[in-house]
Amino acid sequence: MASIPDRMMAAVIDGKKRVELRELSIPELKAGELLIRIEYCLLCTWEQRIYTGESSTGLPFIAGHEASGVVVKVSGASKASEANPGVPVNFKVGDRVVFKTLDHCGHCSYCYQGYTNQCTGAAKKRSYDGIPGSGGLAQYIALEAGRVFPLSGDISLEEAAFTEPLACCIHSVKRSGIEFGDNVVIVGCGIMGQLHSLLCRLKGARVIVVEPRQDRRELAARLGAHLVIDPGRGEMIDQVFKLTGGEGVDVVFNTAANPDIAKRSMALLKKMGRMIFYGSFHPNKNIEIDPNQVHYSEIVITGSSGPATGDFYQASRMLSYKLLPVKDFIYKIFDLSEINEAFEAALSPQSYRVAVRL
Ligand SMILES: [Zn+2]
Ligand SMILES: [Zn+2]
Repeated sequence: MASIPDRMMAAVIDGKKRVELRELSIPELKAGELLIRIEYCLLCTWEQRIYTGESSTGLPFIAGHEASGVVVKVSGASKASEANPGVPVNFKVGDRVVFKTLDHCGHCSYCYQGYTNQCTGAAKKRSYDGIPGSGGLAQYIALEAGRVFPLSGDISLEEAAFTEPLACCIHSVKRSGIEFGDNVVIVGCGIMGQLHSLLCRLKGARVIVVEPRQDRRELAARLGAHLVIDPGRGEMIDQVFKLTGGEGVDVVFNTAANPDIAKRSMALLKKMGRMIFYGSFHPNKNIEIDPNQVHYSEIVITGSSGPATGDFYQASRMLSYKLLPVKDFIYKIFDLSEINEAFEAALSPQSYRVAVRL
């Protein structure tokens, strides 16, 4: 077994489009915690917004929350025993794992009910030699066992890093209440739209994807979307109504960051349809809602934000069992030493996810 070094490297964002590698202490392990050597971390749009200065996150900051790794130490003891209850019994050194880096408190009303994604408590904030961060772009992380999820089978760790984004989409699909044979429209087919498309197909829906980019439409179709619509070839609303015999669809997921597109997507719903605002809006602005459409048609308008712990667990199972072809979404893999190039590549519109090898 490789020994654990005293120091590690981490990518620190410390200004607009400025990220540098710094040598920091390895996090200390508390009772009930695992030390994980991070192998891969994907660059999500949140990290990209911190990098470009569009996010309000204070700097310096160690970003990264879509990660995978290997357990290298189990809270001070080498193996579990009744005399040492602080040891997480279901983990051992060498286990391949994924983990939820974004903290929740565990004891607010939302956490108690299992809605850990809506936690309002004072979540523990991680910091590395005084630098705050979610920590996916550091080589090691210490986490309590309750937010670490074992992998099974031989799924690669770069694919396993998709657990977090997949968990976000699982949460969203659950909120839609999809039934067999439902017509579902997914507006926007970046990585999140693609993952929604895969999940909705597994849920027995007819999946209609709306996406202006040809390469994204082609990938969605290749991975199983039933119908793809190019909004450049005619009004999206007309195209969707034609495909559904003038009725509209049961569920719409909006993954585009544009409020005007989200407003127009609501017009795709049939009576009692469910509208999910999946993505956040940048920039945000108010949109009009027809209260009579909500009243007479009984449509449901809701959102989806992040994954709860259960969603995360389900995503780790789905990837372990290879139920989804996430390999197609890895645009490029960069070493940690190439972190600047990695961020620049992540910003390009043809990249679904850039992976960083730590
Ligand atoms: Zn993410
Ligand atoms: Zn909480």
